[in-house]
Formats: sequence, C-alpha cells, structure tokens
Amino acid sequence: MPDTTVHDLAGSLPNPKFLHLEQISKGYHHKNGWNQIVGDIDIAIEEGQFVSLLGPSGCGKSTVLSMIAGLTEPDEGNIWLDRHPITGPGHDRGVVFQQHVLLPWMTARENVLFGLDSARRNLPRAQREELADHYLETVKLGHAKDRRPGELSGGMQQRVGIARAFALQPKVLLLDEPFGALDALTRVDLQNELLRLWESERRTVVMVTHDVDEAIVLSDRILVLSHGPAATVTQDIAVPFARPRSQDELNKDPRFYDLRAALLASLTAPTTDAA
Ligand code: ADP
Repeated sequence: MPDTTVHDLAGSLPNPKFLHLEQISKGYHHKNGWNQIVGDIDIAIEEGQFVSLLGPSGCGKSTVLSMIAGLTEPDEGNIWLDRHPITGPGHDRGVVFQQHVLLPWMTARENVLFGLDSARRNLPRAQREELADHYLETVKLGHAKDRRPGELSGGMQQRVGIARAFALQPKVLLLDEPFGALDALTRVDLQNELLRLWESERRTVVMVTHDVDEAIVLSDRILVLSHGPAATVTQDIAVPFARPRSQDELNKDPRFYDLRAALLASLTAPTTDAA
C-alpha cells in the first residue's frame, strides 16, 4: 500500500507548528457596515494532532476552516502548512463537508478515484485503484463500491466522502461538521469509523463542530471560539483520555462529564452576536 503517513518520519520529532494560523483576521462588508468575523487568531497545530474548533453557530468556525482550505483569504495574517504559505486550494488538504459532495453519475469507487486521478497523477493507475479500494473497505463500503450516490444512504455517502479525503493522503484533513446532517445512531457509527481510521494513520485533522461529545471523543485538543464579532480562541484544552477511545468507556469516566459541563458552559456564555 503506497502511503506516507507521519509514522514514516521515523526519528524526527513532530513539528509543533506543522499548521500555523499566524495572527489571522477576517471580516466582511454587509449592508450596515463591517462585520469582523474572526479577529487575531493564532493557532499552532502539531503534526498528527486531531484538533476540534468548537464554538456556537455563526461564530466563524467554517470561515477559519475555509481559510485553511485556501478557499477564503484572511484579511491579515498568514497560514503555513509544513512551512509553506497557503495561498489557495491544494491537494495537500483534504476536505469533508457536512453535505457529501459526490458526483451523482459516478459510482462510489469512481468518486474516490476521481479525486485520486487528479491529486495523485504520479501514481500508476493500479495503485490508485488499490488506494480507492483500500479506503472504501476501511469505511466498510467494499460491498457497495459500485453503487451510485442515489443508491446509497446519507451515512454511506458520507463514508464515501471520508474515504475520498483519506485516500488522497493529504497533509491535513479539514472536516466541516462532517456528521451534522446524520441521525444520532449513524453519527456515532461514523464517529467510531473516523476514530479507528485516524488512530491507524494519525493524520493532522482540523474538525469544525458544535457537538461537545463529538469533540471530546475524537480530539487531542479542543479550541473553543468565542461568540462573534471578532471571534477568537478563548480556551485551548488538551483532551486527557487515552487512545484508543470509545464512547462507552468515556461514559464511565467522571472526567468526561466534568469536561463536557465546562465546554457546554463556555458555549452558552452570554452573546453579543448570535447568528
Ligand atoms: P460557523 O461555522 O461558526 O457557524 P461561519 O464561519 O459559517 O460560522 O460564519 C460566521 C459569520 O460569517 C456568519 O455571520 C456568516 O453569515 C458570515 N459569513 C460567512 N461567509 C460570508 C461571506 N462570504 N460574506 C459575508 N458574510 C459571511
């Protein structure tokens, strides 16, 4: 299996500023003036870390993710990935959105291959097919890889999206509320899939969520964003639970409830600009 995970960097220490959002700010004009969405955010993320951006709806989490994806330009500051400035979208970042973005006329396998064909052109076709099959198997879709999106449930479509993003083997995975549109049971299922996949590869992940439990189960670190305007990081919390994790085990740990209560309290703090 062709792979270049962080484990291949044997002997070298992880770069503590692998992904560095250096004093970034972003705002938009609107009909009554200027809306400062995020103000002066400085975040350094270590290679291989799973980091969640947690904050109330409308505070600017997706805007931050979009700037890392290179889809939105910061007004001030720079974003660095593996010591290179981010100046636009690139194959070194894989994105999973809340709504699957699959091509409806292609099968699950063709959708995964489509991304690989442009991002990993240097690989022989057989290896791209091997990667696509491997990741579809990993998300338990081996049996359904020849079905089109219309023949897959919402959860299965989201699995294809996850397989597609991981198959690209990007330097960083950006997840924008990836399970937000799913029912509660499917959501827990997919969280467990993602947990297992991430624990086997340890890729750098930045995930946007407003689900406290999801952030705790999945993350190494939770960055809490304040309500806007000019949202900034108000808390930087190291999640203390050993891996591999499971929701069942966390449910038995009193520290889980303490952390959840603290995070919920910070999310429901008074607001000046609820969206
Ligand atoms: P979150 O992800 O935390 O829910 P968003 O980053 O999606 O928040 O949005 C933060 C704020 O920025 C919202 O008030 C939204 O309306 C505004 N916003 C986002 N994109 C644009 C845009 N392209 N133009 C104007 N306002 C925008």
